[in-house]
Amino acid sequence: MIGVLINNHEKNIAAEFFELFKTPWELFDKNHAYDVLIVTTDNFSAANARLIVLYGSGLNAFDEAAGIKIKSCSPGNFLSIEDTSLPVYGRLSEITGQGHPFLQIKNSIASAGLKIADSDKSVIRIGYDLFQEVAHLLGTGQPPENALIPALDLHISILRNLILNAGIPVIEIPPVPAGYNFIVCLTHDIDFIRIRDHKFDHTMWGFLYRATVGSLLDVVKSKRNLKELYQNWKAVFMLPLIYLGICRDFWFKFDRYMELEEKVDARSTFFIIPFKNRMGKKLTGKDAYLRAAKYDVTDIQDMVKKLVHKGFEVGVHGIDAWHNTTSARAEKARIADVSNKKNIGIRMHWLCFDKDTFHTLEEAGFSFDTTFGYNDAVGYRAGTSQIFKPIGVNNIFELPLNIQDTALFNPKHMSLTKNEAWQLCQNLIERISRNGGVLTILWHDRSLSPERLYEDYYIKLLNELKNKQVWFATATDACTWFKNRRDAKFENVKQDGDVIHIKVSNDKNDTLPSMKLRIYHPNTDKQTIKYTDLPWKSEISFSI
Ligand SMILES: [Zn+2]
Repeated sequence: MIGVLINNHEKNIAAEFFELFKTPWELFDKNHAYDVLIVTTDNFSAANARLIVLYGSGLNAFDEAAGIKIKSCSPGNFLSIEDTSLPVYGRLSEITGQGHPFLQIKNSIASAGLKIADSDKSVIRIGYDLFQEVAHLLGTGQPPENALIPALDLHISILRNLILNAGIPVIEIPPVPAGYNFIVCLTHDIDFIRIRDHKFDHTMWGFLYRATVGSLLDVVKSKRNLKELYQNWKAVFMLPLIYLGICRDFWFKFDRYMELEEKVDARSTFFIIPFKNRMGKKLTGKDAYLRAAKYDVTDIQDMVKKLVHKGFEVGVHGIDAWHNTTSARAEKARIADVSNKKNIGIRMHWLCFDKDTFHTLEEAGFSFDTTFGYNDAVGYRAGTSQIFKPIGVNNIFELPLNIQDTALFNPKHMSLTKNEAWQLCQNLIERISRNGGVLTILWHDRSLSPERLYEDYYIKLLNELKNKQVWFATATDACTWFKNRRDAKFENVKQDGDVIHIKVSNDKNDTLPSMKLRIYHPNTDKQTIKYTDLPWKSEISFSI
């Protein structure tokens, strides 16, 4: 059992941290004995634990008594962790004193950690403020240049390793459903439905340029093959026939998405514009008018009903919901009315977002948001791909967005070739298979069509993920699975010699994949992490 002795203002953040690092813990009670004590306050002299982990960038009473020296680093530092780097967004200090230094500061010989061991207990001093880091990651998030670093998962892994290295086992409910390697949410932002809606406007001229000259230049740059060039030029010649209603509109792809996803037994979530011709109120700049969509949910009511009927999900593609509660309620009601669903989630058009957005969406009654991601990068904005509750809100989940098609391929964003994009996605998939959580993918409605032609890539991605044995879940199902995990409680954690008794309770009653209990074994050789997964049972005893 972990005891947590922290400042009052950190309690909400610690509670969220231990939903992500789902292991038995409680706020420090001086009458209880602990295996591990995590401390951020100045006074822990009465504490009784085998391992004390003391986080903080400032000098405290323990440092003064133990002769530890603290030196503040300049902002923007990284720690070297195994084969990667961990950015520290708040204050970071070098820690020196009697003991074994660890957590090396990148490009420096100094360390931000010190292990001080005596015969029956160890104290570990770490020179940053863990819960401030967590609050920053879940609130503001990481800049795009650090997108590939699972910073929050690394904070969990550092703490877990310290406990295991001290010879103490760790019991967790991992963010991985039983029988799967991780969860995948496929999502589609529906910004356009038909090219027919765009006659002689910016969208049509843009399409014509990119499909003709742009595609030719892409062939020259080896970003496209000749078959794709032919497809795009053919689409341009067909355009008058589409405007005349003679040929099928090649941008209308709902049925094709359903067909492709049903083949891998997946059901995706479609985010639909609630009101057409609205650019939104808070955006300025000369391009802001381009945000207005030419369609809204009332134009595709039958398709929305068909999607819901076939087990796919619809949510709001928000216009003004991110900054105004009245607008947020109205946008939610529009989609709820047509879909006949009560649980409605949202992703903001253009990923608009500010510090009050979570509160605004919660007030409007959304069940989840999935805006927290990047327009120009791929990876972990929150430093984790677990679904979380933003600090200070109670009733809304955030499903972080990881991969967006236009971020990968758009010349204004990363402008990658198919091979480069594949390497990047593989890299992220590998990290998520290691840490668990949800890989959330955004493929836009018209991305299967000319001139983008990202269909082959999407099919390849679906097959790759299918082979990785993932659970393809709708956004709501993934959130419900994480809610069940949050609702699971550890009770009666008792150690009796080398046997641990534990009762885990959860009164979930649904058809989602079950959870599992993971026992990490104490790390005797301090090299390899070993664990055993046990099937979910309400009461379990096991020996170490
Ligand atoms: Zn959009």
